Amino acid sequence: MNQPNIVFIMTDDHASHSMSCYGSKINVTPNMDRIANEGMRFDNCFCTNSICAPSRAVILTGKHSHLNGVITLNDEFDGRQQTFPKLLQKAGYQTGIIGKWHLGEGGYADPTGFDYYCVLHGQGEYFDPKMREQGEDKIFKGYATDIITDMSLNFIKDRDKSKPFMLMCHHKAPHRPWTVSAKYADLYKDEEILQPETFDDDYATRCDAAREAEMRIDNDFMYRDLKLVPPPTKRPMDKIPPPDSLEGYTLTPEETGVPVSFSSYAELKNFKYQRYIKDYLRCVASVDDGIGQLLDCLNEEGIAEDTIVVYTSDQGFFLGDHGWYDKRFMYEESLRMPFVIKYPRAIKAGRVSDKMILNLDFAETFLDFAGVPIPDDMQGKSFRRILEDENAPAIQTAMYYRYWMHLAHHNIWSHYGIRTLDYKLIYYYAQALGKSGTIDEYREAAWELFDLKKDPHELNNVYDNPEYADLIVKLKDEMYKLKAEAEDEE
Ligand code: CA
Repeated sequence: MNQPNIVFIMTDDHASHSMSCYGSKINVTPNMDRIANEGMRFDNCFCTNSICAPSRAVILTGKHSHLNGVITLNDEFDGRQQTFPKLLQKAGYQTGIIGKWHLGEGGYADPTGFDYYCVLHGQGEYFDPKMREQGEDKIFKGYATDIITDMSLNFIKDRDKSKPFMLMCHHKAPHRPWTVSAKYADLYKDEEILQPETFDDDYATRCDAAREAEMRIDNDFMYRDLKLVPPPTKRPMDKIPPPDSLEGYTLTPEETGVPVSFSSYAELKNFKYQRYIKDYLRCVASVDDGIGQLLDCLNEEGIAEDTIVVYTSDQGFFLGDHGWYDKRFMYEESLRMPFVIKYPRAIKAGRVSDKMILNLDFAETFLDFAGVPIPDDMQGKSFRRILEDENAPAIQTAMYYRYWMHLAHHNIWSHYGIRTLDYKLIYYYAQALGKSGTIDEYREAAWELFDLKKDPHELNNVYDNPEYADLIVKLKDEMYKLKAEAEDEE
């Protein structure tokens, strides 16, 4: 049995529409593109719960959030449960995880199933991060992305050559607060980054949830997010108040130090967007460098042919789309994960697939390639056949999504829904109950339906359009079937 090595590279909050292989209009990612060009790009890879820790737990277990126990950011992962790294380790793999873990620390929450681990403390710091290496806390000097890349290179070079290996290389970047390395501090400095098409979305046809979300480019950044100096009465983590006057923004001392003024609200919003998106893309540039080094290393070690390389992110992100930053919503920019994969022995170079795959399916697929039986209690499906055969059938044409953290951050309402190839139905069940969660405050307008072929940007909620009435009945039926199959009974 020829067991491939697996290098699983994952970032935090990197949306596919900032990768050139996905047609980004705002940046280039030559090394992420190398994986796509030498292998395959998936255009419909989705997460079942668009938030950091839960997505990671789904990936490790192949189970939905309510079954793996990490439903929210506050839930620690119980490392006694079954994970795909444990199963690979048992099957003879040398396993490692380097970088972001974000599933708790100490007790049962430290990484299990890994021969080697060195993971960031909590959310992780960009500079001089505290990391937990094999149960011991240490400070590592430098920029997190470079540190994680260097450690990953060492893991590969120092591997036990008598065994196949599986390495999870998990970057902190480009997560908030988008702190950049010195190398890329001036990237895009004199450029104007294009605004997305939905930048000025007014949420006119959407439920209250979209209007009430507090992650807007114009109103919801902290001083720290935009690297602005707060006034003496404020701290960096304070939210920048909506401007009474359009004047008075002070740049950091490294910059001009001169207060900035604006002639219009649109100009102010664009100023904030430019500060945000440039730092985000600078963080992505460092990750892309690191991926290039990992790919070169596999070539130099002579193992590129025998190694599956994946690049993905724990979920997508709003890059000014709908006037937002952040994620959580079931809308496309947040739901969609980038997913590029190469494995020269089995995947023909340059392929693109629109078949639907989920973070729920990763564990099963890796086990399948390693020749390890997929446990019955895993809930996803292997997409190995899709990788090996262009004519392989889809493994699914609809998916169930659920975001549980009602009003916990950014005032986002919890919701669940179904996405098929052509439609998306979202139910803000908490909105239906009202903020207090009591039935007395019942509000009807808690559903959204998008006709994705006609409305790929999800600007027009057609739930109340009678033309869709029959479809809605079918979609609801399918959604509740998927919910039951997922064993989500709440
Ligand atoms: Ca994330």
